[in-house]
Amino acid sequence: MLQINFECPYCKKSLMDPSYQIDDHPSLKVTIIFENKCGWIRMSSLYGSTHIESEHPIPDKTLTRFFCPNCGTELRSHRLCDKCNAPMVPFKITEGGLVEVCSRRGCEKHLAEFEDLEAELKAFYTAYSSYM
Ligand SMILES: [Zn+2]
Ligand SMILES: [Zn+2]
Repeated sequence: MLQINFECPYCKKSLMDPSYQIDDHPSLKVTIIFENKCGWIRMSSLYGSTHIESEHPIPDKTLTRFFCPNCGTELRSHRLCDKCNAPMVPFKITEGGLVEVCSRRGCEKHLAEFEDLEAELKAFYTAYSSYM
């Protein structure tokens, strides 16, 4: 299986935690908030694996907000999940590209783009600045 190294799309710091392994590889660690609970979530960095562990159990179908543990920026795409309409969560691939996962627990929608990161970020910033 392909192992992917992830970093924050904003501060570019690695999100990988070699000290905590899932599927025998470093986990992808971010901060999540749901239902007034704040904690960590760790996800498998193997492409296609949906194994996760979290500090607090996340009830099925819960919408979760993801934050970079380094810069605190909310990881939120302008795109909505085409299965359940929840916001997608973007992770930058260190080697180039982007993976987006659905922010709803239990929805296994994944989207990978190994190119076109520039257009994605540009679209995000355009969407974001229109709220300012
Ligand atoms: Zn960051
Ligand atoms: Zn979804």
